[in-house]
Amino acid sequence: MQDKRASTSYLIWEHGRARVMVDAGGGSALRFGESGAQMSQVDVFLFSHFHVDHSGDFPALIFSSWFEDRKRPLPVFGPPGNEYMPSTTEFVHDLFSEPHGAWRYLSDLVEPGAEGSYTLQPHNVDAGSTPVLVFRNADMAVYAVRVVHGAFPALAWRVEIGGKRIVFSGDTNGEGQGLTQLATDADLFVAHNAVPEGATGVERRLHMPPSVIGMIAANAHVKQLVLSHRMLRTLGNEKETQAAIRRRYSGPIQFANDLDCFPVR
Ligand SMILES: [Zn+2]
Repeated sequence: MQDKRASTSYLIWEHGRARVMVDAGGGSALRFGESGAQMSQVDVFLFSHFHVDHSGDFPALIFSSWFEDRKRPLPVFGPPGNEYMPSTTEFVHDLFSEPHGAWRYLSDLVEPGAEGSYTLQPHNVDAGSTPVLVFRNADMAVYAVRVVHGAFPALAWRVEIGGKRIVFSGDTNGEGQGLTQLATDADLFVAHNAVPEGATGVERRLHMPPSVIGMIAANAHVKQLVLSHRMLRTLGNEKETQAAIRRRYSGPIQFANDLDCFPVR
């Protein structure tokens, strides 16, 4: 894109395997391949919301996994819909289902029992303003909370894996206490640095400025803060951003770039 970066997408790696994927913005299918990850390794896919910069590469990513040896279904969790956005189930079916899906030639991906493919299992997560358990298997537990992102249904996610808590704010203006509750004692908190301090109008209604990120990170006692979803509006402002966060949060702060990896030990 204009900022010469891929849009939002995250992988949680454990023992060399990509176990959890969050969002698939434009450019992320290529970055996924570059990272060495395999879709066959992913246990669960989580959407924060359906803006293009969080979901645009989903079909490309899923298509590439067509050539991998994946047999088990892939659960896909994300927000419910409203007049501005599809729900998670609508999004997946609008892409792949017969007879109207854009890429209905891949409808094997959503027709249970079809041979030669795995199936996507989309679920709408009706999370409220306090965190709820969404998914659990032998290795991990995944929690979500509803966050405010203008009029768009949006979720923040917490993944508990290997005894660690990793939290993704997604896009939000930081209103309410849900994200702070979700992020409490996180080993790693990935927050979206989409607007600079002093942002107003629609930018501020959609996104949290650095001072709000700092307040949430401090109140939640997160052990490590990573700033992601950096856009032209915030790139180059790192000094001011760090200073605004520092007034509230004293832990380590890092700025994310494409393909960066942040160890959680
Ligand atoms: Zn958004």
